[in-house]
Amino acid sequence: MDKFHDECGVFAIYGHPEAANVAYLGLYALQHRGQESAGIASSDGRKIYSARKMGHVAEIFTPEVLNGLPGKLAIGHTRYSTAGDTALRNAQPLSVACNKGQIAVAHNGNLTNAIELRRELESDGSIFQSTSDTEVILHLVARSRERTLAGALRDALLQIEGAFSLVFLAEDRIIIARDPHGFRPLAMGRLELSNGEVCTVFASETCAFDLIGATYENDVLPGEMVIAGPEGITRELYTTPEKPAHCVFEHVYFSRPDSIVFGKPVAESREMMGRLLAREHPVDADVVVPVPDSGVAAAIGYAAESGIPYRQALIRNHYVGRTFIEPSQAIRDFGVKLKLNPIRHLLEGKRVILVDDSIVRGTTSRKIVRLVRSAGAREIHLRISCPPTISPCYYGVDTPSHHELIAANHSIKEIEAFVEADSLAYLHIDGLRQAVQDRKHHFCYSCYTGHYPTLIQIEELVTAKTGCC
Ligand code: AMP
Repeated sequence: MDKFHDECGVFAIYGHPEAANVAYLGLYALQHRGQESAGIASSDGRKIYSARKMGHVAEIFTPEVLNGLPGKLAIGHTRYSTAGDTALRNAQPLSVACNKGQIAVAHNGNLTNAIELRRELESDGSIFQSTSDTEVILHLVARSRERTLAGALRDALLQIEGAFSLVFLAEDRIIIARDPHGFRPLAMGRLELSNGEVCTVFASETCAFDLIGATYENDVLPGEMVIAGPEGITRELYTTPEKPAHCVFEHVYFSRPDSIVFGKPVAESREMMGRLLAREHPVDADVVVPVPDSGVAAAIGYAAESGIPYRQALIRNHYVGRTFIEPSQAIRDFGVKLKLNPIRHLLEGKRVILVDDSIVRGTTSRKIVRLVRSAGAREIHLRISCPPTISPCYYGVDTPSHHELIAANHSIKEIEAFVEADSLAYLHIDGLRQAVQDRKHHFCYSCYTGHYPTLIQIEELVTAKTGCC
């Protein structure tokens, strides 16, 4: 099976005359959560319509495509993965027709028992169309003995493990569910129509609500199922919630800074990470420079706390396309130069504090340090706004396998030498916890500790590792 570590964004809307158009806007705001494929499924109350393609939201949903998605209900998905030629088959929403009617589903997260469930289903005769773990859920729903869709979903949700923020579309309703730990975010909001009616919206991040003019109300709770249908909104716990394990990396890197994630503004946590990093690891320098865009908020915090001027000395080209072909051997470090250009007069002769959110393999960081050095920086002090990433994520973030994670196999001094920085320091886990105000220990830090809040089966670990990019 292909790798399971899909990074995704999900959206759902009930009760809007132009549901697919609004879903399109919602996905536009969630584009950063996945740039490989996107899709929308809508329903006019009788039939489900679906469009999913490889590419960016803006390219996929032309007026013709959106015209083919009628109805007042819609769900949408953006996806990133490295699944190669199988990618379109795995693009979501996935839809099926079964004895519970037509259903479509979109998933953010990663099921940790998908291989085992799939093997059981296949030995019982199920035929899979994709290699994605999400399809397992549809098979479990189809095979459930429960007569109602909600009952069958409940049945399926109780069998799956790991991280899931799920949006389902049936002919006349949407059903939303979140895993009992609440690994991935899932916000709920209301959108007032011009005729005074109110419709319900759900999204991975609240930045999607801002674009469509919806108000963020609260989060779908861990272990909760929400149904928006002809009889109104019903909310129920389909299982006993576990101790929350919200993904801290959403606040470190993944979410947009203008979102409120797990009830907390991301920009605020990132700035605090920078402030605490400055307190933990001060250094005498002339300028604080962010690696755009991921290091910006933390660099602002670092500069504010240290009193050292903030300078945007690396300029990012936002138009680097996915189709760009790198000249095979001619120019070293071409990739990073294409994306980032240093401003020489801000860097020449300067002692630079370079701030980024994380180091994964270390290769990009080394290229950026070299770029800043080539623009004349005298010293480069790399500051990272989270602890060293030492363990892969099995809950939906695309981290490489253990042997490719530089901090899993090297000391900080060795990484410092590898990235060619004059000094390197990371935010301590206590600082990170403080920055996201995790007083109750409700976040998951497994990529920094190697301690996973759920049981990860050994076989799953091996497959996930070898299946990684
Ligand atoms: P590297 O130095 O090659 O490890 O790359 C580090 C850069 O990758 C940092 O700027 C991060 O913002 C970025 N990064 C970290 N995690 C991810 C991820 N899961 N997906 C994409 N980029 C990431």
